[in-house]
Amino acid sequence: MVMNKQYKRIGILGGSFNPPHIAHVVNAEFVGKKLNLDKVFLMPSAISPHQDKKETIASHHREKMVNLAIENNDLLAIETYEIERGGKNYTYDTIQALKKKYSGAQIYFIIGGDMVEYLPTWYKIDELVQMVQFVGIHRIGYSLETHYNVQLIEVPSIDISSSKIRQYIDNDEPIRYLIDDKVLAYIQEHNLYQSESDLVNIDFEALKEIVKSQMSYKRFEHVLRVEQKAIELAKQYRVNVLACRLAALLHDLCKEWTMAQYEAVVNQFNLDKDLLNWGSEILHGIVAKYVVPEMFFEKKNDELNSLEQQIVDAIACHTVGSKQMSDVAKVLFVADYIEDGRSFDGVDTARELAKKSLTKAIQFKLEHTIQFLKEKQVPIYPVTEAVYQHWCLEK
Ligand code: GDP
Ligand code: FE
Ligand code: FE
Repeated sequence: MVMNKQYKRIGILGGSFNPPHIAHVVNAEFVGKKLNLDKVFLMPSAISPHQDKKETIASHHREKMVNLAIENNDLLAIETYEIERGGKNYTYDTIQALKKKYSGAQIYFIIGGDMVEYLPTWYKIDELVQMVQFVGIHRIGYSLETHYNVQLIEVPSIDISSSKIRQYIDNDEPIRYLIDDKVLAYIQEHNLYQSESDLVNIDFEALKEIVKSQMSYKRFEHVLRVEQKAIELAKQYRVNVLACRLAALLHDLCKEWTMAQYEAVVNQFNLDKDLLNWGSEILHGIVAKYVVPEMFFEKKNDELNSLEQQIVDAIACHTVGSKQMSDVAKVLFVADYIEDGRSFDGVDTARELAKKSLTKAIQFKLEHTIQFLKEKQVPIYPVTEAVYQHWCLEK
């Protein structure tokens, strides 16, 4: 039987952890070490009292992210009492329950410096101050005054908050180093904190049916294998999985179209008529860039959102590459080349390279494509040559 360890001094750091970030763990670590605590529990709330319901994502995600954030720190642990109980929890009730669960332990209840002035408004605060030792996170450079017994612990002031992080994610701004790498990977894998408009409403099954209707079964199977490979690479390289999946599913949408269909798109969008001389090999990606938004995306003010833009750009350049490739474009370019059904000479080398570096795999694909085209003596599209020079000779 596993014995519940007898803790003497425990810290409780409540919060929505939506998502957990470095200030949470820095604070927990500082308080834990400075007060010589046996454990500091991060305790995600069921529903955050300070946020819109729709902004607080499912507690199982927050629980998982907290676990990832504290994974390699023995001082820190998670307390899931509030999310298991669900609903609104008064701190007073929670503390009563925790006092039973950790009987014999002195509880240090950690609150942010900005919360200290609101203590008088807390439910049963006079009882509460008898039950726990309040600890105020004191950011260096801020003053804190209260007539309650709050022990202040100085921590480095890190100007980051969960809401800021959510904004950064929504705006595609970098959050690496502001949150744990594993938490970041989890957020990307599950597409958390992206605006409603950003792809979450896509019905993949319906989309696959449409894709299937545009091509032979053999081609469709290739598309599904590219999707699988793209998911794999996206996870490995922490690229938006949903965006990579969509790019993969749609990349060869126009591969088996007739010349008349290509011509219609070239005319409709005033594309260079010279493209029509290059056959479906070169045309199918470029044409899909214009067809995909019409068929699958809802444009707002005639604009695609940034993820949609990355998807169509990735599709446009999936055959010949591009000097500037987004992460989504890189994933698609490599996934198309090494999907499990490919069996050309060198594919195993390409697969090995893709495990180490997307750039190396891209360079390999470009080199081998050029070589292959030269051997076959087929005309090389000028962009192919330029992209090859850029990726393989200039660096
Ligand atoms: P697929 O659509 O899944 O078959 O793969 P791709 O879109 O990557 O490639 C389509 C074909 O275009 C391949 O057979 C490539 O060898 C070929 N290709 C790539 N670059 C060029 C080029 O510059 N010129 C010509 N003629 N063909 C090319
Ligand atoms: Fe293709
Ligand atoms: Fe393909």
